[in-house]
Amino acid sequence: MLALVAGAVAAAFFLTQPRYSFAIDQTEFQVGLVLYGVVGFASIAMLESLRKAQRQTEEQRRQLEQEVAARRLTEQAFAEQAERLRTTLASIGDAVITTDLAGCITNMNAVAESLTGWTTAEAMGQLLDAVFRIVNETTRKTVENPAFRALKEGVIVGLANHTVLIAKDGTERPIDDSAAPIRCKDGEVVGCVLVFRDITERHRQEAELEERERQFRTLAESIPQLAWMANTDGYIFWYNRRWYEYTGTTPEQMEGWGWQSVHDPDELPKVLEQWKASIATGTPFDMMFPLKGQDGQFRPFLTRVEPVKDDEGRVVRWFGTNTDVTEQMRVEERLRFQLDLTQTITDNATIAIFMTDDKSRCTFMNPAAEAMTGFTFKEVEGGILHDFIHHHYPDGRPYPIPECPIDRALPERFDVIGHEDVFIRKSGEYFPALVNAKPIRKEGRAVGTVIEVRDVRVEKEAAEALRLLAANLSEANRKKDEFLATLAHELRNPLAPIRNGLLLMKLAGDDAEAVERSRSMMERQIEQMVRLVDDLMDISRISQGKLELLKEHVPLGAVIASAVETTRPLIEQMGHELTVTLPKQPLIVDADMTRLAQVFMNLLNNSAKYSERGGHIWLTVERQGSDVVVSVRDTGIGIPTDKLTSVFDMFSQVDRSLEKSQGGLGIGLSLVKRLVEIHGGRIEAKSDGPGRGSEFVVRLPVDVEASRPQADVEASRPQAADKQQEPAAPKSSLRILIVDDSKDGADSLAMVLKMMGNDTRTAYDGKEGVELAEEFRPEVVLFDIGMPKLNGYEACRLIRKQPWGRKVIVIAVTGWGQEDDRQRSHDAGFDHHMVKPVDPQALMKMLAGLDVGHEYQQTKRCP
Ligand code: ADP
Repeated sequence: MLALVAGAVAAAFFLTQPRYSFAIDQTEFQVGLVLYGVVGFASIAMLESLRKAQRQTEEQRRQLEQEVAARRLTEQAFAEQAERLRTTLASIGDAVITTDLAGCITNMNAVAESLTGWTTAEAMGQLLDAVFRIVNETTRKTVENPAFRALKEGVIVGLANHTVLIAKDGTERPIDDSAAPIRCKDGEVVGCVLVFRDITERHRQEAELEERERQFRTLAESIPQLAWMANTDGYIFWYNRRWYEYTGTTPEQMEGWGWQSVHDPDELPKVLEQWKASIATGTPFDMMFPLKGQDGQFRPFLTRVEPVKDDEGRVVRWFGTNTDVTEQMRVEERLRFQLDLTQTITDNATIAIFMTDDKSRCTFMNPAAEAMTGFTFKEVEGGILHDFIHHHYPDGRPYPIPECPIDRALPERFDVIGHEDVFIRKSGEYFPALVNAKPIRKEGRAVGTVIEVRDVRVEKEAAEALRLLAANLSEANRKKDEFLATLAHELRNPLAPIRNGLLLMKLAGDDAEAVERSRSMMERQIEQMVRLVDDLMDISRISQGKLELLKEHVPLGAVIASAVETTRPLIEQMGHELTVTLPKQPLIVDADMTRLAQVFMNLLNNSAKYSERGGHIWLTVERQGSDVVVSVRDTGIGIPTDKLTSVFDMFSQVDRSLEKSQGGLGIGLSLVKRLVEIHGGRIEAKSDGPGRGSEFVVRLPVDVEASRPQADVEASRPQAADKQQEPAAPKSSLRILIVDDSKDGADSLAMVLKMMGNDTRTAYDGKEGVELAEEFRPEVVLFDIGMPKLNGYEACRLIRKQPWGRKVIVIAVTGWGQEDDRQRSHDAGFDHHMVKPVDPQALMKMLAGLDVGHEYQQTKRCP
């Protein structure tokens, strides 16, 4: 087109006239130019349509080629699809049969072949009914084939239940089937596909599951616990019968979260919190809380809830039980109490308790066992007990366990009772023990031993001490019996001479010398008896701790002189020689003059008694430092060396037969020893043996200060030992009333006092005494204390109440001379207290020193 225009322009400019201008004046040139244009245009148009036709042809060829290629592809895809379908059908687990519209089989897979018993080749073209025969499993009626409905109605037909497929060989199988129509491209049904599967296994599983569920429910109903099940969210959908029985509720009330109504409101929040936490985390729930029973009472329950999980571990439900633990708690409490009790008992038991297991290993030791053995339980625990405390015999030989009866008790099944053995402490010390052992039985089998061990060392020692004591007691008893016999003998001894003396006096008539001899003999015998009784009373006082010493500064010389004086008659009678040696300087002792004199008197008396007639007695006093040593030695019968100590024992006499001839009760030396000791001194017996004389050495502390030379030496000289006539009792003329229920005692005393110049009266009971006093108005009254009608105290009080009674001297005369007795008589208003038998001379001496007729003034008594 461009070339055409350019040609026309070039022609107009160069060829047409005027040349070289576009103005065309000439017509031919103008026509020629138009023609040029037309021919040009026509040529262009023709060429253009030619090219277009060529292009279309090319396009059609290409399309054809594409179609061929596409068809080839489709065919290939179809073949592939058919292959895939076949493979799929062959590989899937379900049986598949396809039919055409007429219901004739067009294909079937291997599973279908196996289930129907038909091969594909046999089945092809067969009517479906012939190959796929199905009946209802219970009614055995033919079931409508789902494929026909699918074909007829063009719908997918779902599973028919309880259908049984009868295979070609008659085998029956439960199946599950469905059918779907096959449609062509335009939607028309052209056939059907039937899918079915053997559900024998599923049936079995379902039956099994059902059985399991049934079993579970039966179990849940039969257990004693309350049981329930909840959904995953905790919603409870089932409770067992016991739940309803216990709570008295209904399923409607309980469903879901209704259980809260049987909870204790105080506990509920905690329960809910924990339960919700379990639900959230899928963890088991374990808690104790009370549940209200239908009686309204709460009982403690232990609740356990377990999640039931599926194969993937997801919680599918919860199963819970509530166990009533009331009884269990009661049992536990009882058990705890029993345990506490047992522990308290074993802790506080003074007996050692051990336990061993069946291998003799220590499993228990109480504190007493620890204290007894010195081992702690920790040290012994698990070890062989025998090896700790029983490994050796006391003689050092090893004690092998098979020899131990305690360890044999368990295997040999016997109880050990009262077995005596010797055990060993941790320190190695042996101790005697008494053992009981008993096997511990569990379900009839011996599983260990309980062993009780008592340390009997103290008991054994006590038993030995008791045995000794019993022996001593029986010895003491024997001595006492002997003593009583001796006492009877000693008291009776003087009676014969006294009786004889009395007879002599009666017969002697005017023979003054015979009367005097009888009198002095009787006096000696009475002295002897009085001394015996005095000794007895002193011993009793000392044993009761009631002997009181009236201590003062006493010159020892005076004490010795008094003792010598008293014993001189016996010494002389026996024809002994007595040598008394005293130091020049005075020796003052802090002592009770009478008691100390009694000591030396006894010793001198013994020397006189236990020496053959004509013996020698030495009494020597010697100062040794701050002590004074007094020795009384004789040439007498001596004392066996083994008796030198025992002679000081009560009732002890070396030779009874000899003693009997000498007189004595075996209490003198015992009394001497105690008197010396309460004076702060000690005494010792010495002898070279029988027949070789004896020596008694008394050591006493000297009052050093008081014993300085300026002290009155003369006062202590033993001149008094030279026999001096005792001053005669002063004559007096007092009005004396003697009241004593012992008539002889009262009368004899009255007679003596009368002979001494007094005016006397007697009364024999307290009442009579008071009445007589009223009439007689005595200056002195002697009252016995224990009297009928009115005792001495009461009588004295009555007298003191009389106007004249205050001036009377009232003296208590009694057998009791203890401090208490003296205090009582003082309190009753007595002026003096004298112990029977009253020495009339001593009484007169005392009265001589009194201001008779003086007004009675009760003063405080200074013991
Ligand atoms: P009694 O003299 O009453 O038997 P004692 O207690 O005074 O009791 O003395 C106990 C015993 O000691 C006496 O029986 C005697 O056997 C023995 N005995 C005491 N003094 C002497 C002595 N000087 N010589 C020998 N034996 C003595």
